[in-house]
Amino acid sequence: MKFKVLLIEDDASNMRVLKRVIGKANLDVVTANTLTEAKVIFENTSPEAYLCAVIDYTLPDAPGGEAIDYAIEAFIPAIVITGKIDEDIREHILSKPVVDYIPKQNAQMFEYLSRLLARLEKNKRIGVLIADDSRLSRNKMSSLLTRHNFTTYTASRAKQGLKILSENPSIKLMITDENMPDMSGVELVAEVRKLYDKDQLSIIGVSSDRSPSLLANFIKSGANDYLNKPYCHEEFFCRIVQNVEHIEQIEAIRKAANSDYLTGLPNRRHFFQQVDNTIRRGLSSMSMALIDLDNFKNINDSFGHDFGDAVLKEVARIIIRHFSRFHVSRFGGEEFCIFFPNIEQQHAVNLLNDFREAVANKLIKSKGVSHACTLSIGVTSKTKKTIESMLAIADAHLYEAKAQGRNCVIGDKENNRTSL
Ligand code: GH3
Ligand code: MG
Ligand code: MG
Repeated sequence: MKFKVLLIEDDASNMRVLKRVIGKANLDVVTANTLTEAKVIFENTSPEAYLCAVIDYTLPDAPGGEAIDYAIEAFIPAIVITGKIDEDIREHILSKPVVDYIPKQNAQMFEYLSRLLARLEKNKRIGVLIADDSRLSRNKMSSLLTRHNFTTYTASRAKQGLKILSENPSIKLMITDENMPDMSGVELVAEVRKLYDKDQLSIIGVSSDRSPSLLANFIKSGANDYLNKPYCHEEFFCRIVQNVEHIEQIEAIRKAANSDYLTGLPNRRHFFQQVDNTIRRGLSSMSMALIDLDNFKNINDSFGHDFGDAVLKEVARIIIRHFSRFHVSRFGGEEFCIFFPNIEQQHAVNLLNDFREAVANKLIKSKGVSHACTLSIGVTSKTKKTIESMLAIADAHLYEAKAQGRNCVIGDKENNRTSL
């Protein structure tokens, strides 16, 4: 679903630029030039339809930021943009539960807004756990986080926090107070770190205690960061965002390390890990297939390397369509591999033949070239072997498939040869 952003701005040139920034973030824009126009929208839409409202502080019929209150009343997160920002206006804005404010003078404002919008959308999928025995403190953090679209979970006891963590894998950040009745914050961090690495879950310790040793204890026990109470709105969010982004960056790195750059399929190393883990769990049967495109060198030579790449991407898409239930991989070059847990030889041969036909019948089109290509497959179901030895047998069958004229599947027995 594409979210909408309500943009309330009276200045035409600002409106144009802001519309572009919001559109670039892949969000739909609904505009209003005055508070009066915006009120009609607030009254007639459900708040869930809106990711947020971007509100000009000074509007002709709302010169003192009055539009902010209407957005908040309609439960739409508010981002305020201001022409002039003095300490009074800043304080006035921050006394309201807004997401953030952005001064227009700042040349980087559009860049900042676009990052903020992207964050608000991503935050919907991120859970944050607050462990704090003080209801006031919990509510304050929870309301700040909700404004930024995070899904919040609260625990008044450390043990309750551990339980919530185990039940909600979307939680990527835990904020913990130091003083809790059943366990200290530092102890809770140490407990949590036995179960969750720093690259799975970020932790921020919080306390009104200003002693440097507490900060150090939090960090030594495995916290990523520390926040002193009382904190200001901006410091709170800077720390939250920094720690959430840390987890996301690691996830992105892990994904890049595990997948093939061209097709996005799992790479050879990741495939081996996945298959190894699956075999360890114990299987009644298994099949391993090696797939190799036919005469691919000719395709590159005849239509160019770019077309060759387009073929590889299309074949990867067909692999996903047919085999997403199994372990798949681009092994390198024009070779792919599929591991079928709990699948017998004949069943695997049938699935692979359907796939082989789907590829042969697909006219691949890219930049004015259109061409169909075929592939050959070797598959084995001899189970009492290592991954490497299964691959060696599948490879021998693949060699046989090439020798027999390509565009066919060769299994463990000669009579398993099947082709168009
Ligand atoms: P066979 O039917 O016997 O498998 O013949 P073939 O031409 O497919 O096999 P060969 O091993 O001679 O050539 C494979 C070609 O695949 C050579 C190489 O340039 C090309 N290739 C490998 N990786 C890529 C890639 O990422 N993109 C493109 N476009 N071509 C690639
Ligand atoms: Mg204005
Ligand atoms: Mg080939």
